[in-house]
Amino acid sequence: MNLFAPESRRRLLLKPGKERVIANRHPWIFAGAIANESGNADAAVADLVDKDGNVLASGFYSQPSQIRLRALTFGEEALTEELFRARINAAFARRTFEHGNAGRLVSSEGDDLSGLVIDLYDDLAVVEIANRGLELVREIIVDALRTRGVRLIYFKNDLPARKLEQLSMIDETLGDGAATATIVENGLRFVVEPAGGQKTGFFLDQRENRQLTRGLSRGRRVLNLFSYTGAFGVCAAAGGAAHVDNVDVSAGAIEMAKRNHALNGVEATFTVADAFSFLRHTFHQGTDRWDLIICDPPAFAKSHNDVNRAARGYKDINLYALRLLNPGGMLMTFSCSGHLSSDLFQKIVFSAALDSGRRASFVRRLTAAPDHPVSLFAPEGEYLKGFLIQTRV
Ligand code: SAH
Repeated sequence: MNLFAPESRRRLLLKPGKERVIANRHPWIFAGAIANESGNADAAVADLVDKDGNVLASGFYSQPSQIRLRALTFGEEALTEELFRARINAAFARRTFEHGNAGRLVSSEGDDLSGLVIDLYDDLAVVEIANRGLELVREIIVDALRTRGVRLIYFKNDLPARKLEQLSMIDETLGDGAATATIVENGLRFVVEPAGGQKTGFFLDQRENRQLTRGLSRGRRVLNLFSYTGAFGVCAAAGGAAHVDNVDVSAGAIEMAKRNHALNGVEATFTVADAFSFLRHTFHQGTDRWDLIICDPPAFAKSHNDVNRAARGYKDINLYALRLLNPGGMLMTFSCSGHLSSDLFQKIVFSAALDSGRRASFVRRLTAAPDHPVSLFAPEGEYLKGFLIQTRV
């Protein structure tokens, strides 16, 4: 059955008075804007219609989700299988790989493909599907990747949203060989293993910030907090750092970090520790200081309700990091919590600077690499924000 055929679609009637919902062309249509539903209950695709039957928007349908429809088209533009394929191929075509052989091929709303993320690691593609409608048209995604010459497709099925959507949480692979790749990024090499790793296996979004680190590291003592597989550490060492320390709470991540440093012929130290305790302990011992500290923690705010608690976490970690900088030292600090605004993050870092007794200025505002575009129509997709801060001598 053609999942895009008009007769296999769900039909969602817009609630009178909710016309505003589609005026801004935001792709998420919530259950609260829908008066009633009819047609195929197992549909992958649904049309949002007005009381006269005019199609207002079409997209992927998700019965279990509050986001009932992820719109791909609005008004006159017909949603067909060809259009969906063309969207995927257009996203692929927008990417350039001048920095190496890894990058984000599809960035959800940023590529007008709400709920779909595809990262490419050499000939291994890692796919994250966040909703049921997309899951049902998976074959089209597979087809597009195969046409692009991908060897192995790894479905990373651990997104919390999948549980709500009653989708399988077990990863799957399609294709030949092991689900691992060695990528090259700006001449440096990293092993990526999506199974069991964070996100799709590597933080492609930090590519430009890693390059920046490389350029700032010469002769400096660098501390890489929340080092994961050591990518910032490798860049600092390759950039001529006097010394690099990597700290992560996960022993497995630290093992990978050691491997990645060895792969590039660079040296560093590695500590399995809670970053908060590590900083506090070092501060009270008064032994170590650094010239550049990278602080890239996991998202402390997983939901809107976590924002206050997360803010205290960010304040604490940034306060201690600032205290441990040598005079004139720099802090590269990030938050990847989508629920915490850039504005609030700036206030938190300001408050940490105030309490640390250090004067400091922004040297740069930092964001995700350009293969992670954010839709102007769904700005909440902008999760990563960071500051490069320099303290006074
Ligand atoms: N900066 C990394 C990505 C960080 S991902 C990069 O560019 O590749 C977040 C990392 O923080 C994970 O590796 C996780 O193990 C680690 N982590 C989570 N909580 C931590 C804590 N309290 N102390 C130290 N590391 C922690």
